[in-house]
Amino acid sequence: MNDPDALVDRRRDIQENLEAVQRRMAAACASANRDPNDVTLIVVTKTRPASDVALVSELGVTDVGENREPEASRKHAECEELPLTWHFIGQLQRNKTGKVARYADVVQSLDRSELITAMSSAAERAERNLRGLVQVDLTDGAEGRGGASPQDVLTLCEEIVTATNLDLAGLMAVAPLDEDPGAAFERLHALHQRVLKDFPEATMLSAGMSGDLEMAVLAGATHVRIGSAVLGERQHVR
Ligand SMILES: *Cc1c(COP(=O)(O)O)cnc(C)c1O
Repeated sequence: MNDPDALVDRRRDIQENLEAVQRRMAAACASANRDPNDVTLIVVTKTRPASDVALVSELGVTDVGENREPEASRKHAECEELPLTWHFIGQLQRNKTGKVARYADVVQSLDRSELITAMSSAAERAERNLRGLVQVDLTDGAEGRGGASPQDVLTLCEEIVTATNLDLAGLMAVAPLDEDPGAAFERLHALHQRVLKDFPEATMLSAGMSGDLEMAVLAGATHVRIGSAVLGERQHVR
């Protein structure tokens, strides 16, 4: 985006959208009786150009989410100097872990042992420490969007704790398409409470997207992942 007028327009649109999302988050915190400082906004910049990442950073956003390689690595390379925490939120193949380990600060989609092992050695090779979340499947395997079965979550948490160069930070989930997100997030909340008993360091709960952030905040989300409500509708749903 080299046209200066276009950049000014885009900045104004994003700023308005950001303010609207922040108002929604504040209202959700108020009705849930929670401190607004306890919920962090992650702006999901997937499919968007590096210029959007720069704009959200300028507007005060501290956390961004990406879900695909090599798109994410390339964008990070263009935005390396910005004070941002990078979250990887997509389904991940073992052969991509080397790339992700070089720039991600938080990997939210750890959902199986082989991936934890691969991510751990990739982080070791990159000489970095990554925070890891166990992605939970709230659909009983119905949607194939990744995530571990709830009954495997404690074991995977233990594997992350044991793995070198990975620190267990919490849980992540996406609401099912065919169920009330509130009910699904309540199951996630209960599972998170159970995890916290054994792993008190696993304080992060990443849940809530543009359409359901209020219900996620009500169910204890500490991080919401918002794409379209800030950056507009994407061309393709992914
Ligand atoms: C794309 C994506 C989001 C953001 O979705 P929106 O509906 O655009 O807010 C959040 N989480 C994950 C895992 C995603 O892939």
